Amino acid sequence: MANVKISNLNKKYPNGFHAVKDVNLEIIDKEFMILVGPSGCGKTTTLRMIAGLEEITSGEMQIGDQIVNDVSPKDRNIAMVFQNYALYPHMTVYDNMAFGLKLKKTPKAEIDERITKAARILDIEVLLKRKPKQLSGGQRQRVALGRAIVRKPEVFLMDEPLSNLDAKLRVQMRAELIKLHNDLKTTFIYVTHDQTEAMTMGTRICVMNNGLVQQVADPRTIYNSPANLFVAGFIGAPQMNFFPGRIVDGKFVEVEDHTFKLSEKMMKAVKEKGKESAEVTVGIRPEDIKISNSQEGISAKVEVTELLGSDLNVYFKIGQRSYILKTEAASGIKLGDDIYTVFDSEKLHLFDLETEESLV
Ligand code: ATP
Repeated sequence: MANVKISNLNKKYPNGFHAVKDVNLEIIDKEFMILVGPSGCGKTTTLRMIAGLEEITSGEMQIGDQIVNDVSPKDRNIAMVFQNYALYPHMTVYDNMAFGLKLKKTPKAEIDERITKAARILDIEVLLKRKPKQLSGGQRQRVALGRAIVRKPEVFLMDEPLSNLDAKLRVQMRAELIKLHNDLKTTFIYVTHDQTEAMTMGTRICVMNNGLVQQVADPRTIYNSPANLFVAGFIGAPQMNFFPGRIVDGKFVEVEDHTFKLSEKMMKAVKEKGKESAEVTVGIRPEDIKISNSQEGISAKVEVTELLGSDLNVYFKIGQRSYILKTEAASGIKLGDDIYTVFDSEKLHLFDLETEESLV
């Protein structure tokens, strides 16, 4: 079992900077947990504390049944894959993969067997005699993964391992990492600032900002029910639309010239929270705004269109405020068009103006 349990974890760097603030997170055995957030949010620091590469200021770190605060990295039964791969340039691929095992005095025959198996999984069998400089970025990435796999760790830690790859290879490696996780049936903890990587690979996602955990949930929940304004804005591309509104009578939300009826669920939630009359930030995802074929809906003017293969992003203005919607390219909408938009009121998100927490 390789549950990783992080309790009240804090990191203050010697200069006084509080990079990780009271983080509580339990990573369940065999899950693919993604730590995601903007640059500087503390995700790498958290991962390095799990690895034992960074001292914990306060709190507790448990791997399996063991509290590992004072256990050295080599005794934690983890393997870390870094962004820059950290391969030894003068060694062949085989020797790079064998290095950790030789240090542990693993018998030669077993080293051979483990490397052959890992090389087969990663499709790098023909590269074993090459040196890192004779490899492409994607191949180097596989070798770095191979070096981790042969150690048979209980937990894989990965820090932005795909960020040095070109866009096409990154997409391909995403799928391969999902497959690898399925094949190895081991716990993966993966750091990225890329919300697409988080959404596509994670069985669960931990969204961080300013050293604080914002939400921990499966990708669908994070997308459909973001806990607060930060998560709502960070996850999803194009970004959720936000605009000011006011809840009236616990039944409606007024936005500039328009009034939307709240869904039953929202009515119940705002009542429970005593927000039946309150200023809020309203959010709606671009795919939840439709273009009406008739002249029903809110009239709007198209400012910019962005063609993405079969999809079309339409930037438009209602009065002085800009919004974005996502539709099919076949709709043929173009710059300067006058359109009628329908906001799906069932799909609105409401956020408390002060706390920025979701009300629903
Ligand atoms: P990125 O995606 O840019 O790597 P991150 O979320 O992984 O960001 P961390 O590397 O964990 O962020 O850093 C968190 C914060 O701690 C940052 O503001 C960073 O500047 C600060 N920090 C990191 N290392 C140190 C250090 N040795 N001394 C002081 N502050 C540090």
